[in-house]
Amino acid sequence: MKIGLIKEIKVHEYRVGLTPSCVEAYVQNGHTVFVEKDAGIGAGFENSEYEAVGAIIEADKKKIFDESEMIVKVKEPLPEEYDLFHEGQILYTYLHIAADKPQAQMLLDKKVKAVAYETITSPEGGLPCLTPMSEIAGRLAAQEGAKYLEKPFGGRGVLLGGVPGVQRGNVVIIGGGIVGLNACKMAVGLGANVTVLDISASRLAFYDDLFGSQVNTLFSNRANILKAIKEADLVIGAVLIPGAAAPKLVRKDDLKLMKKSSVIVDVAIDQGGCFETSKATYHDNPTFVVNDVVHYCVANMPGAVSLTSTLALTATTLRHGLAIANKGLEKALSDDKHLLNGLNTYDGKLTNEAVAKSLGIAY
Ligand code: NAD
Repeated sequence: MKIGLIKEIKVHEYRVGLTPSCVEAYVQNGHTVFVEKDAGIGAGFENSEYEAVGAIIEADKKKIFDESEMIVKVKEPLPEEYDLFHEGQILYTYLHIAADKPQAQMLLDKKVKAVAYETITSPEGGLPCLTPMSEIAGRLAAQEGAKYLEKPFGGRGVLLGGVPGVQRGNVVIIGGGIVGLNACKMAVGLGANVTVLDISASRLAFYDDLFGSQVNTLFSNRANILKAIKEADLVIGAVLIPGAAAPKLVRKDDLKLMKKSSVIVDVAIDQGGCFETSKATYHDNPTFVVNDVVHYCVANMPGAVSLTSTLALTATTLRHGLAIANKGLEKALSDDKHLLNGLNTYDGKLTNEAVAKSLGIAY
């Protein structure tokens, strides 16, 4: 199969859909891989590294689209890329079309066969291509929170681990799923005093088993949230209600209870955020202040650690990409129901029920 690896054009998106080692795997399986010039630069991969494993470096993006049967990317295509697709082309990337009607319409009109990383499932019941990004965002949340607590970055000037004789910082994590667990591991590692709130009793029991007395667990209700944020130096928002906007668990007035120059990291911002005062920010200007509380609300946190993110993402996407290239899309889909769950559009039709429902388009 002829495969095209495209350079991302979204602002501050530095990840790339294939590493040189992934390209090598495709080439060894008899495929041709066109790599757009500088596609890997943001993640630290030189053109020469791709060339060394058999890729064809091409500066003309249109030529890559024209010649490739499958396009591999990281983020959804942007409007300026819409015209480049041709009928029957396979697109393998994060799509998130449930909230992006223009993109969905383009994929339907052009009869693109689009497989979305985010809806591929695993036999264990998870979303294997989303999990690593949540793990990264969770770990980064604690790291960024620690940074913005530093005085020069607008914070209270608190070191999360304290020092002998001086109190540790208080970290409150609302939502103890994948993001929450990874934020917790980092915060505990930094020596902070950590409290996790969740509505799931079994999830809280899991934390208790894992961390013992190192972590305080609390049922997530209004009274407990208010009590926890009052004491917090850093609050990390990590709730998710699948398929719905994040609930606003901390209201604007509640910020008055918080310590001056404390920090909020709202990881759930990609679902609207769980703080009423959150609004999405970008890596070049990630924070703003409301009621003396520093807010960090970057919607694509993994992009900041593009090398780690690229390695984690491609480790999960390569297997399915190779199956598509080796067997052909139709055979790969019929052999693997989890990959089939990733198919969002085919031959002008929406093929994922949940996505079709959100778009209000026939399925
Ligand atoms: P997850 O499903 O693993 O965990 C969500 C947790 O929230 C669950 O344990 C659930 O019980 C809990 N929850 C639901 N309602 C709650 C409430 N009212 N109070 C407390 N807890 C509640 O999800 P995840 O993978 O950890 O993702 C969390 C959020 O982070 C999602 O919105 C996801 O899209 C987002 N995310 C953002 C970025 C970014 O770059 N900003 C990156 C990855 C993930």
